[in-house]
Amino acid sequence: MRERRDHFIGGDWVAAAAGGEIVVHSPATLELVGRSADAGPADIDAAVAAARQAFDAGPWPWTPARERAAVMRRMAAYMRERGDEIAELLCDEMGSPISFLKRGGGDGPSPLFEYYADLAETWPFEAPRQGALGPAVVRQEPVGVVAAITPWNGPLFILALKVAPALAAGCTIVAKPAPEAPLDAFYMADAAAAAGLPPGVLNIVPGGREAGEHLVRHPGIDKVSFTGSTAAGRKIAAICGEELKRCSLELGGKSAAVMLQDAAVESLVQCAIPLGLAFNNGQACAALTRVLVPRNRHDEVVDAMVSFVKGLKVGDPRDPETTMGPLIAERQRERVERYLGLGREEGATLAIGGGRPKGLDKGWYVEPTVFAEASNDMTIAREEIFGPVGVVIPYDGGDDEAVALANASTYGLGGAVFSADPDRAYRAASRIRTGTIGLNMFGVDPYCPFGGFKSSGIGREMGPEGLASFIEYKSVFNRARPEA
Ligand code: NAD
Repeated sequence: MRERRDHFIGGDWVAAAAGGEIVVHSPATLELVGRSADAGPADIDAAVAAARQAFDAGPWPWTPARERAAVMRRMAAYMRERGDEIAELLCDEMGSPISFLKRGGGDGPSPLFEYYADLAETWPFEAPRQGALGPAVVRQEPVGVVAAITPWNGPLFILALKVAPALAAGCTIVAKPAPEAPLDAFYMADAAAAAGLPPGVLNIVPGGREAGEHLVRHPGIDKVSFTGSTAAGRKIAAICGEELKRCSLELGGKSAAVMLQDAAVESLVQCAIPLGLAFNNGQACAALTRVLVPRNRHDEVVDAMVSFVKGLKVGDPRDPETTMGPLIAERQRERVERYLGLGREEGATLAIGGGRPKGLDKGWYVEPTVFAEASNDMTIAREEIFGPVGVVIPYDGGDDEAVALANASTYGLGGAVFSADPDRAYRAASRIRTGTIGLNMFGVDPYCPFGGFKSSGIGREMGPEGLASFIEYKSVFNRARPEA
């Protein structure tokens, strides 16, 4: 049982103004995991005021980059030391398998803080340029006070994707984690306090949609960095548009795993299930949920997918053998089950799954499911289900038809192309309108930009591009400067 009843505002622990609290239950056992403060408008106002003060009066925005980097490295060290604790909390809060959370050593957000600390030290915050008017200086200044709004499905990592580059740029931040998984974010607050981050530079105020909207509308906010659903992203973009606030949006997806005629079925299936329908219990924005296969290879692919799915271990996320846990909430299971019904009604063939796993009566579990012989215009192929549902769509024709089908989506976040010929795979991948694509693999690399084409978002996180999104450019000309 974790008690985090205070917000982190201005470097202090502050009780929620209206006494609000969020009660978190495990989606696997339904037992109480903990309680967190719940932000109302007054808490958001206080957090923005603290961040505004820390930005306008400094010194964080003009602290030398190497000193900012030193604080960030201390934050990374603090969180790394608590890696196991953090992974266990995330497992309890959102039901992700512990095996998934501890992959790669379970370092969590620490490598991102270290990466952006390194980048800050070499970033050209001030660069001379020969202009038409004479010598100039191009300054890259922090964009200001950032509202960081995050979802529950990778909460601490996604928060770090915003906080680490924003700190590196010299911004101050008000973070509003999602109410489904608010507790882990307080580790970042603890890290900030332990590392000596100046008061007000990072403020953490978990809360719901109304708190989020109040934050977006707040006149003290200069930039909104949002990750979540496309529906919420549209609303946030509209508000930011009215007020000309900078905004970046990391939204939903319906990514395609495209099998070309010469591809090996094993390489497709070994990627398209763990990084598709089973990725984070089926709740991953970039999951490969549309599997496009040549019609003459359809049955072979479906057989291989079914046998792979049979090998998944669905159950207690705390068990190191488990590969798939529950969905986040009852309403999410209802939503997924609605799609399972729609898949059947619209004529797809249920190859495996489609119900609730036997013997798991507690918790929001759904069977990993594969629909076969689907078409790209079915609802299950068009809309983001956010559950463990893969949709196999046969196509006729060659690579052009496969590419056209991959592009026949309002989304464009992830994707993969499978072929025995790397050049052929690269040619197809280069024509698919999506932000990240793998050849005979899929991955998200924190050193490379990640984000969406089309309704999957605007802007990029990760890599230097992630830092650039927290920058404003300023050109400085100097009449007094001697002629070059
Ligand atoms: P959501 O949009 O319901 O909520 C996300 C966050 O926004 C939460 O903190 C929520 O409280 C807040 N929010 C919701 N409506 C708001 C509004 N009108 N104004 C301000 N804040 C608002 O999404 P979710 O259910 O928490 O997360 C799942 C979605 O997130 C999926 O669509 C998934 O694809 C997407 N996602 C995208 C990425 C990415 O990098 N592209 C990563 C993870 C999740």
